[in-house]
Amino acid sequence: MKILAIESSCDETAAAVVEDGRRVLSSVINSQVAEHRVYGGVVPEIASRRHCENIVPVVQGALDEAGVPLTGIDAVAVTAAPGLIGALLVGVNYAKGLALAAGKPLVPVHHIRGHIAANYLAHPELEPPFLCLVVSGGHTHIVEVRSYTDFRVVGRTRDDAAGEAFDKSARAMGFPYPGGVYIDEAAGRGDPGKYKLPKPRVEGAPYDFSFSGLKTAVINLLHNAGQKGEEVDADSLAASFQRTVCEVLTSHLEAAAKELGYRVVAAAGGVSANSGLRAALGEMCRKNGFTLYVPPLSLCGDNAAMIGAQGYYEFLANPPAALSLNAAPSMDIAAAFSARD
Ligand code: ATP
Ligand code: MG
Ligand code: FE
Repeated sequence: MKILAIESSCDETAAAVVEDGRRVLSSVINSQVAEHRVYGGVVPEIASRRHCENIVPVVQGALDEAGVPLTGIDAVAVTAAPGLIGALLVGVNYAKGLALAAGKPLVPVHHIRGHIAANYLAHPELEPPFLCLVVSGGHTHIVEVRSYTDFRVVGRTRDDAAGEAFDKSARAMGFPYPGGVYIDEAAGRGDPGKYKLPKPRVEGAPYDFSFSGLKTAVINLLHNAGQKGEEVDADSLAASFQRTVCEVLTSHLEAAAKELGYRVVAAAGGVSANSGLRAALGEMCRKNGFTLYVPPLSLCGDNAAMIGAQGYYEFLANPPAALSLNAAPSMDIAAAFSARD
């Protein structure tokens, strides 16, 4: 079964054709990152307008690259939540139009479920149940993936997401937006033991996270050094920050896996591209005899192939959506879309 998938939740307009949830026949991503960089973050209004301009050629490109005409598609999957509402609406309405015109079922997909499903594209043997660390620009969750469509959040951030902490700290260090990847690069040259940063815990919630204090500590350290006219070793600050974040993420995942009895663990989302995190998770899993799955770097950030992968399993589990389907800026990963035929 071939699914045409569309993703427009943030600043990537993306489309893909995915077969049986596991094989990528094509994947096209048009990123607006260079345009938003000027503003130091995604400007929602600009993102919506660019999705409008880009969606037709991006979807056509995905069909052409796959060598499949619209009539050869079995369903249209689309990210319907969560994300920037104006951005989501472009993809959702375009998907509705295509589904209606071509007489194909419409499959709404939760963006974070999609990030998790990126792992299915790279690891044919991976099947639920497993425990997944989701670390993206807007989310930091430890999720029980009980089946392809049954999720339970066991831990979540109380404030900033991991990606947000990377990007805000990177901004304070003078790196361009989005700064996660620049911290990763700089960390490779620095001494992770040089700066002592706080490792915040959430009292009484061992799997929850809090990153805003860590971000503030980085900002204060830079500010205080500036006041005193002291040099900050930026590479070592990046390395210290990255190690602190990775230790927190890894130790909470380890504790949750042990407590809940999971021996298969995965990571997903943009921050799962981080080299320090991949190394720390690998080491933790080796120590415990866990099997670890992480997406290839090309599937960590936003893409439509992951939406096609999850869309396949949503299609198998649920009736198609009605054409009254709406987009939602926020939605729990465990919730189901309500507008059904
Ligand atoms: P969400 O998926 O929560 O809606 P999003 O789609 O904006 O948010 P993603 O595209 O999954 O987020 O991830 C983007 C984030 O990943 C950014 O914060 C970016 O800095 C971060 N990121 C990307 N590469 C790396 C890296 N190598 N190290 C650390 N962070 C990284
Ligand atoms: Mg993006
Ligand atoms: Fe994302």
